[in-house]
Amino acid sequence: MKLCCIPVLMVLLAGCGTASRAVHLDTGHSNAIVFTPRSGAESVTLDDDEFERTMAKLARDARSSSRPQEAARRLFEMSARSGAYTYEFSSRRIIPLAPNSQMQGASTEAEVELTRAYLRWCERTGKSGDCLRLLTEGHTLDGDGRFALSMALAKGAVLNEMLEAFKDLTDPHAMVAAVLWTWTTYMVLITVPEPLSKGIAAVMTATLISYVGIDTFWNLIVGFRHLMEEAERATTFSALREAGERYGKIMGSNAARAFAMLAITAIGNTAPGLAKQVPKLPGAMHAAAQAETQMGLRLGAVGEVETVTLSAERLSLSLAPGAVAMAADARGSRRFSQAARNAAYEKSQDATGQAHCEYCDEELTREPGKPQSYEADHRKPYSKGGPSSEENLAPSCRSCNREKGAQELDTDWVPPKNR
Ligand SMILES: [Zn+2]
Repeated sequence: MKLCCIPVLMVLLAGCGTASRAVHLDTGHSNAIVFTPRSGAESVTLDDDEFERTMAKLARDARSSSRPQEAARRLFEMSARSGAYTYEFSSRRIIPLAPNSQMQGASTEAEVELTRAYLRWCERTGKSGDCLRLLTEGHTLDGDGRFALSMALAKGAVLNEMLEAFKDLTDPHAMVAAVLWTWTTYMVLITVPEPLSKGIAAVMTATLISYVGIDTFWNLIVGFRHLMEEAERATTFSALREAGERYGKIMGSNAARAFAMLAITAIGNTAPGLAKQVPKLPGAMHAAAQAETQMGLRLGAVGEVETVTLSAERLSLSLAPGAVAMAADARGSRRFSQAARNAAYEKSQDATGQAHCEYCDEELTREPGKPQSYEADHRKPYSKGGPSSEENLAPSCRSCNREKGAQELDTDWVPPKNR
């Protein structure tokens, strides 16, 4: 992570607090489908008993690694990244990676003290030593280790529920560490430096949005940015815990449980494997309904999501070529609005006010039932994913419209004027 990139991204993400966000569904055709999420989505409710039962069951198929951070990086195909600052052990100095780094004021003693406090916290949760495997790559808590620890603190009660769910495993903490690192690495990946996710991360994103709704998802991303900043600045354990607990409030326990459930399903899995599991998870029925209202996707189609790009005001999903995964209502009605029909008609008028067919240049009439009657044609056929938007409306004569039918323009059907 390059610190220099953070302020810009944060402004972009923070600036979209209340604006209504669009979801762009790109199926590889020329026009992306623009979908407006319905407001009022809620996190799918998962009660603690059901959550613990599910986690216990999923843990049987997941393997925890002795180096969970490394395993998570491999899972998300991330190259090894250093923290926002580096700790030079020989000189016992912290070397900021950017001149405006927040870490300049922190002392080595604070680092060491923070690490000791973390180890004491482990004792209190029932396991001595580096219980969350935060120190496998460094002697003190580095950037990512701090994010993971603040995330653990954010989870609060859900962390204890996980320990309870894993109590029959040889090392319950190892499984918690695996979930934690999968979750934290995913968050780092989707938050900075390039908000683009592929493969298993893309499937996770589409599923998470189905479980928590797009607004909560967005708040979690913006909140995590703040959490990373606070975690980097923190010099004491209590500062880190306060930051984590603030984030925990944004998240809420239902979202935390959904995250944990998805993270453990992702461990050691592939994108298609994860997508196959998703409809079997608890709460999947509610999530399936929200997949449609939040993204215009069927939950069963999360595996078709190849990449996810987050920007200030929109979320873009690219889907497998040819996979029309949208629910029928994703594009709205098949009919164009009267306003769109009028606007397109007016645009086709020449200087004398005569409207023309876009495909053959014949003069159009608004009188119905004639070969030259004005009809509103989907330039990109509706059946092939074309939206009923003004941009996709071709003013056409009835003859051309009938002849073209559901064929693709120019490839399957060449307009008369271009023949
Ligand atoms: Zn025509």
